[in-house]
This record gives sequence, C-alpha cells and structure tokens, in this order.
Amino acid sequence: MPGYVLAIDQGTTSSRAIIFDRGGSIVSSGQKEHRQLLPRAGWVEHDAVEIWDNVREVVGTALSRASLTRHDIAAVGLTNQRETTVVWNRTTGRPVSNAIVWQDVRTQAICDELAAGAGPDRFMDITGLPLTPYFAGTKLRWILDNVPGAREQAEAGELLFGTMDSWVVWNLTGGNDGGVHTTDVTNASRTLLMDLRTLDWSPDILAAFGIPAGMLPSIRSSSEVYGTVHGSQLLREVPIAGILGDQQAAAFGQAAFGPGDAKNTYGTGCFVLVNTGGRVVSSANGLLATVAYQLGDQAPSYALEGSIAVAGSLIHWLHDNLGIVASAAEAEELAGSVPDSGGAYFVPAFSGLFAPYWRPDARGALVGLTRFVTKAHIARAALEATAFQTREVLEAVNADSDVPLKELRVDGGMVANDALMQFQADILGVPVVRPRVAETTALGAAYAAGLAVGFWRGQDELAANWAEDRRWEPAMEEAERDRRMRLWRKAVSRTFDWVD
Ligand code: ADP
Repeated sequence: MPGYVLAIDQGTTSSRAIIFDRGGSIVSSGQKEHRQLLPRAGWVEHDAVEIWDNVREVVGTALSRASLTRHDIAAVGLTNQRETTVVWNRTTGRPVSNAIVWQDVRTQAICDELAAGAGPDRFMDITGLPLTPYFAGTKLRWILDNVPGAREQAEAGELLFGTMDSWVVWNLTGGNDGGVHTTDVTNASRTLLMDLRTLDWSPDILAAFGIPAGMLPSIRSSSEVYGTVHGSQLLREVPIAGILGDQQAAAFGQAAFGPGDAKNTYGTGCFVLVNTGGRVVSSANGLLATVAYQLGDQAPSYALEGSIAVAGSLIHWLHDNLGIVASAAEAEELAGSVPDSGGAYFVPAFSGLFAPYWRPDARGALVGLTRFVTKAHIARAALEATAFQTREVLEAVNADSDVPLKELRVDGGMVANDALMQFQADILGVPVVRPRVAETTALGAAYAAGLAVGFWRGQDELAANWAEDRRWEPAMEEAERDRRMRLWRKAVSRTFDWVD
C-alpha cells in the first residue's frame, strides 16, 4: 500500500492539493487562487475551466514539492465549495456559462415563484432546506431559463449539471473520454433537489423546478471508489475514493463522528455543523438539515447546519473595496491596535442574511458611527461580526437540541487570528478549541478516500489522530457579553427590508 493520500480542496477563493501521511500530517501542498467574477451587484461567478486548470496545476505542485509520484498515492479525496453550479456539454466538455457561485443571489425571483402560495419552506420536509438562492437547484434552473439554447440541449441529453465535485471528478476521470458523472450525498443534499431520506433525486421537486433528470449526476456515498484518474493525467490510475462538501469534510476531519459533535469553520463564510446521528432533525430555529456523511453502503449520518455567508470575505472586502488594509494579517494588526470597536457594529449582509435569519431582503450595515470611529475600529467590527454571527447560530443549535454545546472545535483560515478566537470564546461563554491539523477540510476528504481503499482501518483510528493544539477560555463578564449581543441584534435589525 502506498504511503500517502492526496486531497483536492476546490474552495471558493482557491484550489489546493494537500498530501497527507497515515498520521494525518501534511507532507506537502500546492495552492492557486482563481478569479472572482462580479458582473453585477449580487452576482458572483467562477470560470470552471480556470478552476480545472488550477486543480491540475496544484496536484503537480504538491507531488513535486514532496518528490512523490502517483505510485506513492493510495487514493484521491475531493472536497469542494458547495452549491456552486456548473452546466457543461458532455461532448465538448465546455461549460455553457460561468459557474454560479453559492453567494450569488440572482435566483431570488425563481425562489419567489416556487414559494408562491406555499412559502419558502415548501420543500423543507423533503430537503431540509428553505427556498433561497443559496442552493444549487435554483442556479441550475436559472441557467436553463437564461442561457440561450440550454433548455433544448438539456432535454436532448447533451448537457450535464454538477456542483464543483462533479465537474472535477468528471474531468479527472477523462471528461468527454468516459468521464464519470457523479456526486456524493453531502453535495447532493445542498441542491434542494435531493430527498434526505431516500438519498435520491426527488421526482416531485425535479418536476416543480422543471429540471430534466438526465442531466443530473448519480448520487453515491462519500467514501467509495468512483473511478480512477484518466491515463492522460499525472495521477493516472489512482482511485478517486472520497467526496465530501467542504463543510461536511471539515466536520469529518475534526472527527465529529458522533451525535452532538460540533465544529465551526471560519473561511470565506462560516459554517457550524452539529452531528445528529442517524436522525434528520428539523430545526425550529433557522438551521438546515443536511447529510453529514455516508461511508459506502452504511447508513448515513445527518447534521444540523448554521450557515453564515460572510466571514473571512469581509476582511477581503476591507482590502479590495475600501483599501484600508493590505492583507488579512494587517487587518488583524489594525484591529489589535484598539481595545474595542469604539461602538461600531458591522453586519455584512452582502448576500442577505443566512442562518438563523434567512433574510434575502437584508443588505449590509455599518452602524454606531461617531467622529471617534477610525479604520481600526472598523477592522475590529468586521472581525467581531464573525464572532457575533457564530454566537447567534449556536444559540439556535442549543434551542434545537436537548444538550447545550460545551465547547466548540474550530478550523479554517481565520482561526490563525488569536484575538478573534479569544473574542469568540468571550462572546460564546464556552471554550474554543483548535486542532493540530487546522486544514481539516482537506483532511476530511483524505480520510473519506483513505477509508474506502483500506489505507485507514476505521473511524477509531481517525479519531485517535485528532490532537488539540490550542484552547481559548472565555474571560468576558456575562453582563458585558449580554450588552454586546443586545447591540449586535439591534444592528442586525437595521439591515432588514433593504431590497425593494
Ligand atoms: P476558503 O476555503 O473559504 O477559501 P480559508 O479557510 O482558506 O477560506 O480562509 C480564508 C479566509 O480567512 C479569508 O477570507 C481571509 O480573509 C481569512 N483570514 C486569513 N488570515 C486571517 C487573519 N489573520 N485574520 C482574519 N481573517 C483571516
């Protein structure tokens, strides 16, 4: 058995390839950013061909940095930005349009039309999701309605739909030369088209959306051999054996295998997942029900999820759109130069508000401004927004479950920020814990692939790999925590009803 597993992490801002050893430690990696295309307010697109080129490149980088070849790689695991939707021609392999990214809100009118009379929870019982532009099915419908000729070609069987996992796997396995068209249960559970209990496409929902079933990928488990890498590529003949949406992968990489296990990933957005075991739990408090993972032919595990659309991307926005910081590290430094946000609160409702509010009509607000407020306070308010939003999601988790959360396992790019993690513990009132391998998303995909080919023997072995790196204990007085949360909620209320 070769000594390593390679994970491809096709993320919102970049694609990465990371090679792991049996202990779950990183041996080498490659990373490349892709362009964020913003053609109109509320629209966010990616070029799927650029992403596929980057994936191939970073696989080469990771292998060459470690002086490894395909013979050293036991399996490939894949994790991906979820919901981002691409439709391509099965013969030419070319996408019919740019991919529509999960943050894109152009499909609100489609959601309103489908919700007419029944409300946004029309498909909630079947899918665990409200009708909002976030989910892939609405984006697929938009492409069929708006890209010239797409519907006719789709009905003639010429087009394929996929989230980024399907796109990458189809290309890895040969594209128009016999590529495998598939997705896993976790990615499929984010389309609004899959029945959470049968783990198959819902014929009723496909009919309601007007989507031809023939363009959909097969739905498989998160851990099995889907195919092998095509002969034309660096990793030729290596089995592709794991697929998990990025947030489910992070939960798997955090070894959140049992009911009640929870994690929060601080990346572009912020996503809390709480494992609910074999039960689909319907939230009464604005959380989503989703599939956590399914290993081969075993029963699936489900999760409750609190999705926050804007977290780390607000720090990018301070750089790209305001130009007040040169980098995320500088934002951290600037925010650290003041003891608090000077009374400023920043609600980044750029794509409306996700959990627990689900208010597509909300838009961002920076409130509490006085002459005293400087760019340092604004940077601090931007970072603190992530902690406040996380607290609101965890309040919903606690309201939905009988057992309150005792500590929070964290990962993602923003957990490098020490002051933010301390503030998070302060605002939550429970400890925040970071594992030794903070790249849990890629690790989870590697684990799923490694399990399928016998590289790891079972979940116990993976759980034993988990090790604590750092822990932040809450230090803020309860009265102060309550005061800040009260002001935060007031700030949130100012963002509603902003879209005509
Ligand atoms: P994704 O996988 O969603 O692309 P990552 O997990 O790589 O995201 O996290 C990147 C995010 O983390 C970026 O949005 C960046 O702004 C943020 N980030 C990185 N370093 C810091 C820091 N020191 N302080 C705050 N945010 C940071």
